[in-house]
Amino acid sequence: MTEYLATIGLEVHVQLRTRSKMFCSCAVEFGAEPNTHVCPVCLGLPGALPVMNEEALRLTALAGLMLGCEIGPVCKFDRKNYFYPDMPKNYQISQYDLPFCLGGAVPLHDLSYPKDAQKMIATKDKKIRLVRIHLEEDVAKSFHMETVSGIDFNRAGTPLLEIVSEPDIASPEEAFAYLTVLQQLMIYGGISDADMEKGQMRCDVNVSVRPVGTEKFGTKIELKNLNSISGVRRGLAFEIPRQIEILRAGGTLDQETRRWDDVRGETTLMRIKESAHDYRYFPDPDLLPVRTAPLVAAARARQPELPWEKRARFVADFGVSEYDASVLSDDLEMAAYFETAAKGARKPKNVANWILNDLQSALATASLGIRDCPIRPEGLDELVHLIDSGVINSRQGKEVFAEMFSTGKAAAGIVEEKGLRQVSDAGAIEALADEVLAANPGPVADYKSGKASALNFLKGQLMKLSKGKANPSLAGEILEKKLQ
Ligand code: ADP
Ligand code: MG
Ligand code: ZN
Repeated sequence: MTEYLATIGLEVHVQLRTRSKMFCSCAVEFGAEPNTHVCPVCLGLPGALPVMNEEALRLTALAGLMLGCEIGPVCKFDRKNYFYPDMPKNYQISQYDLPFCLGGAVPLHDLSYPKDAQKMIATKDKKIRLVRIHLEEDVAKSFHMETVSGIDFNRAGTPLLEIVSEPDIASPEEAFAYLTVLQQLMIYGGISDADMEKGQMRCDVNVSVRPVGTEKFGTKIELKNLNSISGVRRGLAFEIPRQIEILRAGGTLDQETRRWDDVRGETTLMRIKESAHDYRYFPDPDLLPVRTAPLVAAARARQPELPWEKRARFVADFGVSEYDASVLSDDLEMAAYFETAAKGARKPKNVANWILNDLQSALATASLGIRDCPIRPEGLDELVHLIDSGVINSRQGKEVFAEMFSTGKAAAGIVEEKGLRQVSDAGAIEALADEVLAANPGPVADYKSGKASALNFLKGQLMKLSKGKANPSLAGEILEKKLQ
């Protein structure tokens, strides 16, 4: 049976995080009352003139720098001519032959793949090349109700990046990883909040299949209506076998656009592409070409540390594992939290462990993000210090942690209040040890006849007797000495 390869290229739209729109001063605000952020420019009324948003230009330059693109000396804006109800001025301002950025790449990373696919990554450290990034204006949003449709122009004119990949993506899992890294970079750079649920990041998927051993790409089919990164994965996981099945049965594929139905889990035909659309692009006469040098200089000054740079630094400076560094730097706020907590810590690795285990699960249980964490990073550092310096033991640490998380109180205060101070006084522990040994002649005899595990039992008895307050390692040492 013929085996097939999948070829995938993504066109991703990202709304820039600016206060105002691309060519007018209307506010960019998600979720506002419809048609409250509008003016003659973004409504497309005749005679209105566009004025460029310089911050949008700087953010585009920043995206280009972070993705390693080439930025030419000059870019310009062109009119893409078509009529659509959500774009009633009959053209969209976009970029055609002189886009802001060319080339570049998105480097995939193990943790950017879906969790269940991280153990079987086909090509490690793969880079997905980009064709280009251009800047354009978003269109309005249509709503289809029972008998009427409505159009909200609040979105019209929002600055929008279009990031076009080469057809380098070979599987649904790689598409997932690509989008995850791209989204992370947008957030790292403050370029966009890139929330797919809010439509701040949207994705058109192009996918084809061809027999293994052939060079020429198969017929490209476009998928629409993919509203989440996992939706993109699911859509492709449905579409690729569908195409292969048709070819295996001797059929042919048409260049078509298909809609992903997330509830039914299938793609259905929207339209067949009969001919290439002629958009009759021409330079927008209302907008001068843009010299990019000053924008690139401004963007360079705000270039953030990149996720892979942060990972390497966490490993070098804090002695955490590669994997832990990846998880900690995955989310920018989590990374900042860890860094603050670990800054003065003697054992930053222990701070990392508390964040990755107890803190993450407490946050998940409470459905809280790290931003709303009731424990400040300095507070976590203090708790870890109390444990590392032997004031409390790690079991008491868990109790203190739970109290800190539910009340927001400081660790030292809770330790005092609850009288949790660990007993590290040798005399006190010796007295407890004597009591335990006297009460448990059986295990004592077992130990003496060579059953080493009996010591753990005796240690457990001592901890119980101390109400959990004894320093466990000291308790073990003293018991062992007395048993010799
Ligand atoms: P169009 O002009 O139809 O928009 P483009 O050449 O601009 O097509 O490509 C759009 C996207 O489709 C790009 O991301 C590109 O990588 C991808 N692409 C192009 N050809 C194929 C193919 N045969 N199979 C899968 N993806 C493709
Ligand atoms: Mg295209
Ligand atoms: Zn406006």
